[in-house]
Formats: sequence, C-alpha cells, structure tokens
Amino acid sequence: MIDVTMKYYSTNGAAPLATLEKAVVQGLAEDRGLYMPEHINSLPREFFDEMPSMSFHDVAYNVASAFFGEDVDLDALQDIVFDTLSFPCPIVQVEENIYSLELFHGPTLAFKDVGARFMARLLGYFTQNTQGSRINVIVATSGDTGSAVANGFLGVEGIHVYVLYPKGKVSPIQECQFTTLGRNITAVEVDGVFDDCQRLVKSAFMDEELNRHMRLTSANSINVARFLPQSFYYFWAVAQIQKLRYGEDIVCSVPSGNFGNICSALFGKRMGLPIKRFIAANNRNDVFYEYLQTGEYRPRPSVQTLANAMDVGDPSNFARIYDLYGKSHEAITKDISGATYNDEQIAETIRQCLKDTGYLLDPHGACGYRALKENMRPGEVGFFLETAHPAKFKDIVERITGRSVEIPACLAAFMQGRKVSVPMSRDFADFKAYLLSAPLA
Ligand SMILES: *Cc1c(COP(=O)(O)O)cnc(C)c1O
Repeated sequence: MIDVTMKYYSTNGAAPLATLEKAVVQGLAEDRGLYMPEHINSLPREFFDEMPSMSFHDVAYNVASAFFGEDVDLDALQDIVFDTLSFPCPIVQVEENIYSLELFHGPTLAFKDVGARFMARLLGYFTQNTQGSRINVIVATSGDTGSAVANGFLGVEGIHVYVLYPKGKVSPIQECQFTTLGRNITAVEVDGVFDDCQRLVKSAFMDEELNRHMRLTSANSINVARFLPQSFYYFWAVAQIQKLRYGEDIVCSVPSGNFGNICSALFGKRMGLPIKRFIAANNRNDVFYEYLQTGEYRPRPSVQTLANAMDVGDPSNFARIYDLYGKSHEAITKDISGATYNDEQIAETIRQCLKDTGYLLDPHGACGYRALKENMRPGEVGFFLETAHPAKFKDIVERITGRSVEIPACLAAFMQGRKVSVPMSRDFADFKAYLLSAPLA
C-alpha cells in the first residue's frame, strides 16, 4: 500500500519522521528540533483566481486542506476550520497605501486566538477516541499566548493546560485572561523572565522520567498545529486587497517575537500566495534584525519593552525559517527585510498615527505599521498585522495618547474573575516535582 500521509521532519535532522498526529501530540521532535512538513503543497492557479470572491471560511479551508488534507477527514477538517474562525479578520484602510489586517476580534482580542483554537480542536480530533490518561499542554507566555491557549482549550475534555508566565512581566489585563478561568486551566507564575518560562517548558519535554509519568505536549508556536493555521488570514488579506487594488505588488509587515506568525506567511508564499516581500518588525529584542544585517544569529536574554508579546531573545521559529530557506542568508534577505524600534519610537508612532489618520494602534501593531511606512517603495501597497486590540494595553496606550481607551465587554468580564496561580521558582527541579505530583486523569 502506498502511504499518502504527510510526514514531518525535524529541523535538527536527527529524529525519525513523524505523522501529523505525532507532531501535534508531541510538539517538539526527539532531537529538540521543530517539525516541518516534508512537502509544501502549492495551491492551484484556479484557487488564486477565485480567491477574491471566496468567503474567509472557504479560503481558509482550501489552505487547510493543502496542509492537513492527507491526515484529517475532510468533513472534520472543515468543521475545525469553521469553528476556529468564528470571528472576522477585517482589512481596514489606514492610509492611501497602507492597510491594517485586524486580528483582534477573537475571544482574547489577539491573533493567537486563531492558532490556539485550531490546535485545541485538532488535538481534540486526534484524542477523541483514545482512552486513558489526560494530555497535558504546557505553554510559556510573555502575555498573549497564555490567554489564547487557555481560552482555546477551556473545557476541552481529556486535556489539561499549564500556562507558565513571568511574574510581574505581563499586564494585569493579560494576566486575568488565564488566571481566572479554573476548570482544566492552571496558571503557573514563574519567578523569572519569559525565556526562563520557555526553558522550563523545553526541559519538561526533554525529561524522560516526566514523559514516562505523564503525556505532555506544547502549545507554543513550535507546534505545527498552532503556527500553520495562521497562514489562513494572510490569504484572506491578499484576497481583500486584490479586490480593492488590482495588480499592485503587495508587501506585508509582521510585528514579530517568536516568529511563528511570519513563518506561517512564508509557508503561504511557498504555496503560491502573491506577497512580494515581507518586513519583520521587532522591538528592541532584535536578534533577527541583526541576523538580517550580519548573517549571524546571536540569541541573547530578552529585555522588557512596551510591546511585551515580542520580548523574545531567542525566537523559536528562527530554526524553521532558516530551514525553509535552505540555511541561506541570501535567500532569506531576498524575501524578508527587518526593522527595529525602541519604546520611544513605538510611543511616537502610536501618537502620530492617531493624529494623522485617526487609527489607534497597539504597541505591537505600531511596530508593524511604522516598518511598513518607512520601507514601502513606489508602486507597492502594503498591509501590517494589527495583532492585538489596543485595550489589551490600556494603560500604556492611554499614557501615550492622553485619551481613554474603552474596554470591550469580553475583556471586562475576565477582569471580574478571581486570580488563582501557582508560584514557581525558575529551577526546573521545582517545576518537575510539581508536575510529578499533579493528577494524571
Ligand atoms: C505573540 C504576539 C506577537 C508576536 O508573534 P510571533 O508569532 O511570536 O512572532 C506580536 N503581537 C502580539 C500582540 C502577540 O501577542
């Protein structure tokens, strides 16, 4: 029999090929590499011709089929896609040639809702028929991942979620979105920075004793089920812009931290998506920017900025981008340019954009907007990703603009809840002991 399923290989090249199910359930490969699909299926010409007149759901379903169609029953896949995208991702014109792709209309008001919801549903699909011990999702967050994953998985049977976050380094609004849920969600407050949280998570996956004891998986953008679905809305954005601006070259600017979001778009480009080039916008955590300039990748500890969901000193998905481009700096810089902004520039951008256009940016979107504005060339039209609702960073945005920001009802509801979290040191031994004592079913 011919095996038609998609196989996933590790970016470190020293682990066996995996099925989609294994890649999703396990998260990271045995050799600590990130899983990559062995083939990237191009979408047919007819799809791209029809894309501008298709619904968001149908665009996304076509993209999802190309990635997952060999491994997931198509009716189930369609349900997963439609259920994931139960909120709009509108394209809003901000200036003559600049559009904002608003990804903050989901339950936690940030783009990570898309990947988190898709992953929760796909994991549910793979585990629906397996009996026995629960699956434990462990996720590190610098703010927005935790809320998206916690809300995406809330109430999903057979799955328990641990959210690790750096004490005092996420905003109160972010914190309440994963510390007040209860049920199958546990918040773990780590005495350290985001990179400590990420290290604890990675160590847990590599610990043999722990993995013999309980079933662990990750929901960070290292998981293929979380990062790949993010490509859906790039196709959608291009379709909307093509409707408005026939034939113009499209540029896309992505505020980047762990680089999962932009990475999914680069996969989209491989499938034929007509985005001419990308801009990766960084805050002061700019190791990727430095790599683009010098060809050397030098990870370092993250520093705290106004755009805290991008405070990442060693972006996980760099390994995927590097692999996708055959480790060629030249090839990478042909498709991607970079930008880096300090807090003062972020603040100035929010203020200036509001004054000139009336559009209110959040600190992450501000990096994307400014990178686009400064780097567009004649004849191009561009969109940046507005990755979070400004109300998620209410205090910062109000301080910068001098205007009050209204909190949407769904956020206000979280803020009524009671915060519950488990205090934790940044030593792996402590975290391991805690997990070993947790219930298994
Ligand atoms: C996570 C996040 C980012 C960075 O996305 P990556 O996929 O990690 O590059 C940008 N903005 C916001 C609001 C985020 O939550």
